[in-house]
Amino acid sequence: MNKNEKPFEIIVLGPPLSGKGTQTELVAKTFDIPHISTGPILHTIKSDVSNPLSSEVMGYMDKGQLVPTELVNRLVADRIKQADCKFGYAMDGFPRTLEQAQFMDVSADVDYVFSIKISDTTIIERMSGRRVCKNGHTWHMKYSPPKVEGICDDCGEQLFQRDDDKEETVKARLEIYHRETDAIIKFYTDKGMLIEIDGETHIEGVFQQIVKKMVVDLRGKIGWK
Ligand SMILES: [Zn+2]
Repeated sequence: MNKNEKPFEIIVLGPPLSGKGTQTELVAKTFDIPHISTGPILHTIKSDVSNPLSSEVMGYMDKGQLVPTELVNRLVADRIKQADCKFGYAMDGFPRTLEQAQFMDVSADVDYVFSIKISDTTIIERMSGRRVCKNGHTWHMKYSPPKVEGICDDCGEQLFQRDDDKEETVKARLEIYHRETDAIIKFYTDKGMLIEIDGETHIEGVFQQIVKKMVVDLRGKIGWK
């Protein structure tokens, strides 16, 4: 029998626009485990007045402040102990820093750490090519251009580039991402746990790589050569 009681403790790392949220959700559905992400955890605690930490969390969030790392860590540690996580969970958006990765190391028994690799050039291209109209319809200059340049096919409104999608903004976000995440990647690489996934391909292609790695590993564990 496998000694690991929770075989599916899964962390998914990836830069903005790598589709890590989508992949984490697909993994969670496939292996019938919860998708855990810090945003929803904080919102759940905040709206659960019976929770003793509710008012503390609400205090930070309502003021637009970041919830302190120690508190986030504690909430994540509590969350992964809940009954629905008895076989594991698929997590994205955490750990965000090296300290949180070290915290996970002592608070959980992580089985898989997937790192969706995608070049900064691709991310910048994906993001800076996006155009939206005021009704929220989204187009991409290269991947899904509108029939008439600068005009939304769906509603005829003018298309524009959101500030968030501008190259400078994307570069700044990527810089922060690398500053925080490169240390986490190194941490899991040194432990021999990091599983790199080629994120340059489409959603199904990325997901197939993840599932294949897991199936190969699970076959090894049950002795299926
Ligand atoms: Zn439109």
